[in-house]
Amino acid sequence: MTVSIVWFRQDLRVGDNPALFHAAEKGSVVGIYVEATEQRKKHHDSAAKIGFTYDSLIELRSELNNLNIPLHIVKATTYDDQIDKLKEWTAKLSAASVYFNNEYPLNEKNRDNKAEVTLTECGINFERFNGDLAVEPGTIKNKQGKPYKVFTPYKKAWVEQHKSIQIEPYKAPGKQSYNVGKQETFDFSMSYRGDLWQPGAKAALGKLKAFLGKVDKYKAARDIPSVAGTSLLSPYLAIGALSVRQCIYALRDHYSGDEEKLYGDKWLSELVWREFYRQILIDKPTMAKHRPFNPDAKEIWVSNHRAFEAWKEGRTGFPMIDAAMRQLNQTGWMHNRLRMNAAMFLNKLCLVDWRWGEKYFMQQLIDGDFASNNGGWQWCSSTGADGAPYFRIMSPLSQSKRFDEKGGFIRKFVPELEALDNKSIHEPNSEQRKECGYPEPVINYKESRQRALELLS
Ligand SMILES: Cc1cc2nc3c(=O)[nH]c(=O)nc-3n(C[C@H](O)[C@H](O)[C@H](O)COP(=O)(O)OP(=O)(O)OC[C@H]3O[C@@H](n4cnc5c(N)ncnc54)[C@H](O)[C@@H]3O)c2cc1C
Repeated sequence: MTVSIVWFRQDLRVGDNPALFHAAEKGSVVGIYVEATEQRKKHHDSAAKIGFTYDSLIELRSELNNLNIPLHIVKATTYDDQIDKLKEWTAKLSAASVYFNNEYPLNEKNRDNKAEVTLTECGINFERFNGDLAVEPGTIKNKQGKPYKVFTPYKKAWVEQHKSIQIEPYKAPGKQSYNVGKQETFDFSMSYRGDLWQPGAKAALGKLKAFLGKVDKYKAARDIPSVAGTSLLSPYLAIGALSVRQCIYALRDHYSGDEEKLYGDKWLSELVWREFYRQILIDKPTMAKHRPFNPDAKEIWVSNHRAFEAWKEGRTGFPMIDAAMRQLNQTGWMHNRLRMNAAMFLNKLCLVDWRWGEKYFMQQLIDGDFASNNGGWQWCSSTGADGAPYFRIMSPLSQSKRFDEKGGFIRKFVPELEALDNKSIHEPNSEQRKECGYPEPVINYKESRQRALELLS
């Protein structure tokens, strides 16, 4: 009996998995996941993301085994080694085909192309699919046939295209007639906040359902860090335990198919931002080489190690920034409003290279995702596609007063300020700082803002 291998990567799910669906239609399937430990280090993946991936993989294995599909978890070092391991396994299983869903960052694209050449030379059939984006990658272009650089017209074109395609997610395959047998295992578990992030696709679907119950409040609640007003689905989307198509389909159901409501929905827009940044990476692979999207972007950065260390530790003396950084360090996740503030604080007010911040985020985030992280950092430093205008510099004080009015979020993550009143908590005076054991501000906001404006204009 010939079998096909499904090579799982950032698509750790049974539902809406085109590679798995198509492979299962052809006959017996064996799943392989190859963990490339050295590559992880090169990409600065956080322990939280690695641990969450491993546990989600174990959940995936259990779901696959219920369908009589084995999942071998194999150890490799680099991406080249991953290809060697894949080749070994095709021989071991006498597999005729390898199916997988594409990944778009440069190293992954190069690896996949190389894997295709290597395995094709061995007479293996190679089948690739898009399981990561809601619309076919590379298909949204402006009237001149060029990729969009600005989000609003991109979204308009995206909506038009999306309306014309079938968006129903792929079904999970039926039960196979295959003996699961002994499965290769490589334990790469690492610790993360399991009390906050339950691994696996089933947990993701449960979270999606619960969120849709309050999606109508998203627009008003999404900017308030003390409120759980966003979906918290990013860790699942980042490793593919959930697909963007599953999200959109469920949202459409929520609106009983009403297109006007679906395409006018604010949460949908955020999912489209995810697509936008992926599209940029596909159209401009040099983004993966840590270059700015805008080649004329000014390099204003200085090596301000003192500010960088204080920022990382959540001890900048700006309560909202510190609360944000401590949320990141303690939970592996940071609220979007705070990501913008923390990033602008670092690169515009402290003049620290956005790439330092980008790397630190990857090293901590459970939802670390190259395209969204790079896109977010470049947006904040005004070097990116549709980036914030250079003069947009969020004030940590006004943002704090506006989005954490009563200081509830600050109190949670900066407990030494807990006793301060609702006004002082945003900007304690020197005496209060001393009493609370809280540092003086690492920069002078007004002067730093002025300096950034002069350098960037
Ligand atoms: C500096 C910076 C770095 C970021 N790094 C990452 C990252 O590494 N991984 C990541 O998934 N997101 C990143 N984001 C985007 C955003 O902050 C997170 O996706 C969001 O906070 C995740 O929470 P949620 O799932 O509750 O989002 P929701 O508000 O519920 O949004 C739903 C989904 O839409 C996508 N999304 C939402 N906002 C954005 C956005 N601005 N850009 C791209 N996709 C978006 C995410 O997949 C998210 O899970 C970054 C943003 C900034 C400003």
